[in-house]
Amino acid sequence: MREGFMEYTAVKCGNMPPLARGWPTTKLFIDGKFVESSTSDWLDIHNPATNEVIARVPKATKSEMLAAVDSCSKAFRSWSDTSILARQQVFLRYQQLIKDNIKELAKAITLEQGKTLADAEGDVFRGLQVVEHACSITFLMLGETLPSITKDMDTHTYRLPLGVCAGIAPFNFPAMIPLWMFPMGMVCGNTYLMKPSERVPTCTMLLAKLLQDAGAPDGTLNVIHGQHDAVKFICDHPAIRSISFVGSNRAGEYIYERGSKNGKRVQSNMGAKNHGVVMPDANKENTLNQLVGAAFGAAGQRCMALSTAILVGEARSWLPELVERAKGLCVNAGDQPGADVGPLISPQAKQRVCSLIQSGVDEGAKLLLDGRNVKVKGYEEGNFVGPTILSNVTPEMKCYTEEIFGPVLVVLEADTLDDAISLVNRNPYGNGTAIFTTNGATARKYTHDVDVGQVGVNVPIPVPLPMFSFTGSRGSFRGDVNFYGKQGIQFYTQLKTVTSQWKAEDATLQSPAVTMPT
Ligand code: NAD
Repeated sequence: MREGFMEYTAVKCGNMPPLARGWPTTKLFIDGKFVESSTSDWLDIHNPATNEVIARVPKATKSEMLAAVDSCSKAFRSWSDTSILARQQVFLRYQQLIKDNIKELAKAITLEQGKTLADAEGDVFRGLQVVEHACSITFLMLGETLPSITKDMDTHTYRLPLGVCAGIAPFNFPAMIPLWMFPMGMVCGNTYLMKPSERVPTCTMLLAKLLQDAGAPDGTLNVIHGQHDAVKFICDHPAIRSISFVGSNRAGEYIYERGSKNGKRVQSNMGAKNHGVVMPDANKENTLNQLVGAAFGAAGQRCMALSTAILVGEARSWLPELVERAKGLCVNAGDQPGADVGPLISPQAKQRVCSLIQSGVDEGAKLLLDGRNVKVKGYEEGNFVGPTILSNVTPEMKCYTEEIFGPVLVVLEADTLDDAISLVNRNPYGNGTAIFTTNGATARKYTHDVDVGQVGVNVPIPVPLPMFSFTGSRGSFRGDVNFYGKQGIQFYTQLKTVTSQWKAEDATLQSPAVTMPT
């Protein structure tokens, strides 16, 4: 751990100050300084494994939010003018600093979000890959040229930054999702206003500190905290040119509408119901392990969790073995050795997940594995739900129509591949899906006919690497241009097209050209 690194955050992992001295507070990051908010409105941050309050986060005041945007606007003038090679150098240093501090970042994630330490490192690592990709900016920002479009005339395009961009992040990936946002926006020459989830702000503060250490000038990244008021502020402020949002449909649709109405570019990645279609010819051992890992990993709190299985034909008989494997997972606090499934983010989330399980039972599903009464020794107050499997689920049931976002696998059955495809295509979400098969023709038919933006073949969570883009579709996405990859560059830049004519002396026009050039 770098000396003083954790001083920039409210949370000191494993070294909590006595409560009598008051809870540590999360700072705002404005104009290159970590500052205490003057607000009187604070939210508690809890450790989900114990429900103890571990820190507090401010709802930034209007004048603090205005100062943050003002700082971004001022910094834009020089940052957008900084050479692309200098911006690339900042992110080359940044990726190394993230690597050097991956364990500390992961500890902060586990403490606030609850996921296991190994999974938290994965969270940082997948974000780090986006930063590494951002370092290819000199290639990604290339424009186009076409010489001699007519006599003595050439056309070329520049890819230019937009101005101040903003990001609003969810709680479930405290490192990866903010890292989808500000590094891509900033490396293009934009300045960035980040609003992390108020439930897990510490990782973003650490990432902001590391970016400052990497040489990002003051004002190029500002971080504010808050809930609805901060979101409305971002949607309405005229200097903010784009909004990148990841989170629930409720917030995402609202932000897409309000931000677009105000003339901003908005990309909004939202909720999911991801289906895993299991064909009877699949490699059984591999498929069952993949399903269990993808349904229950991170306690099901992943937008790409495989939360719905469709067993086709004879694959129905694999259910008892699926249940046995799920029973073998260890539910425990994320920092405990051997933990596979950590707690849910809050008691409200636990209560919601439990009531959706009950709704399945009430509507006629069969509860093959019930994780609602799981007890974790030493963590009796935590928000734990163990792996849960509901079978005999039908498409009308609430446990199927709603995103559960917990460690719950709902199982449906289909007679044929066509029936399975039609089921998946009738579901309004289009984030991810997977097929498990050893037959190439079956895999090809599925990948072509299924109307979902990200498809895995024997790959349960097909989140694309950053040279591609995150392409969730239908009810899981609003906007035109996706996160990271070439699409990310497109989102954070605008084109300027220059047409120039350099005539030799003897080709000078002798009279005004009043007709449209052809
Ligand atoms: P959330 O929508 O509750 O919160 C996301 C952000 O929006 C937070 O910063 C929060 O402060 C703000 N917010 C919340 N409610 C709001 C409202 N009514 N108006 C304005 N702003 C609001 O989401 P969450 O619970 O933090 O995250 C879980 C959700 O995110 C799940 O639905 C999951 O599928 C989705 N998600 C999607 C992706 C993806 O790429 N598609 C990735 C991760 C998570």
